[in-house]
Amino acid sequence: MLLRPLTFHTPQTTVQAAKLQATLNNARVLAGGTFLINSLKLLKRKGSKTPEHIISLRKINELKKISLQNDKLIIGAMAVISDLYDSPHLQANTAILRTVCKNISTNPIRNMATVGGNLTCRYTWTELGCVMVALEADMHFINQDGKEEIMTAEEFFQNAAKSDKIFSHVSIKIDKSAHVTYHRVKKSANVDIPLLAVCIKTHINQQRWSNTRVTINNGIAFAQRDHILEDFLNTQTTHPKLATEALNHLNTEIYDKRSDDYKKHIFRISLKNAIQEINDQTYDQ
Ligand SMILES: Cc1cc2nc3c(=O)[nH]c(=O)nc-3n(C[C@H](O)[C@H](O)[C@H](O)COP(=O)(O)OP(=O)(O)OC[C@H]3O[C@@H](n4cnc5c(N)ncnc54)[C@H](O)[C@@H]3O)c2cc1C
Repeated sequence: MLLRPLTFHTPQTTVQAAKLQATLNNARVLAGGTFLINSLKLLKRKGSKTPEHIISLRKINELKKISLQNDKLIIGAMAVISDLYDSPHLQANTAILRTVCKNISTNPIRNMATVGGNLTCRYTWTELGCVMVALEADMHFINQDGKEEIMTAEEFFQNAAKSDKIFSHVSIKIDKSAHVTYHRVKKSANVDIPLLAVCIKTHINQQRWSNTRVTINNGIAFAQRDHILEDFLNTQTTHPKLATEALNHLNTEIYDKRSDDYKKHIFRISLKNAIQEINDQTYDQ
């Protein structure tokens, strides 16, 4: 199906893109295109209004970089999922991103879909958001004046991932003492999108859990923290029954939204496995 006529803009810098975004009426930003192109076709098929302008970010090389700056990992919005997976800069707490990328769809999609598209597309089930909240990442945007605006990933997803600015990069502090785990459940046995996902980041000193973040993606709401479980884990030391006991300290509102019993059950198993994994790594008998 052909798209309706539109003007295709190819800015060379992020600031140019931000200015176009602020001045053009009825414009959409194009990153990898794996969601956007389909959604434009769908709009046309439904007879709905389609954008008059597309602002492609593909020629903006500064947005493609993945680097280490001081003690932070910087991931450009136009870095594709396969580049993030292959990046030599993933280390310590950020090494978990390799696990996440490996699970995302297939090679053709991973070669096109971008980190920025994954974080800003406003589909509740995409996976990088859950991990960025757990890793205490900052999200950087460029406004129409070319100025940078920063918000935490947690604030961004609390605000339903809304933004009218160009997302430029995400930054994550490297933390060598953190333990991080990520578990996701697929809808089917094939390559598939996640039904739910959980990311836990914590610090364990003398077997005591502290600064724990438990981030949940239940698929129907944006990534959110389970503060009740975090508070419980932060009073605990590692011990063989910790994962089982932790299941009595959940913010059930998050999990019960997935109303059917199978989903509730599978959430409990995922949480238990995630806690158990960290517990087993750090339990000193
Ligand atoms: C078949 C398939 C399977 C998938 N499976 C998974 C999976 O298992 N797990 C998972 O996490 N994800 C999955 N995805 C999602 C994928 O990882 C990408 O997140 C998604 O396709 C969008 O990325 P994109 O770069 O193609 O964005 P686009 O389609 O180009 O854009 C998507 C939206 O994001 C906005 N946008 C993109 N970049 C910016 C920016 N820098 N600033 C402002 N706005 C921006 C665009 O305006 C647009 O509205 C899947 C996608 C497909 C098509």
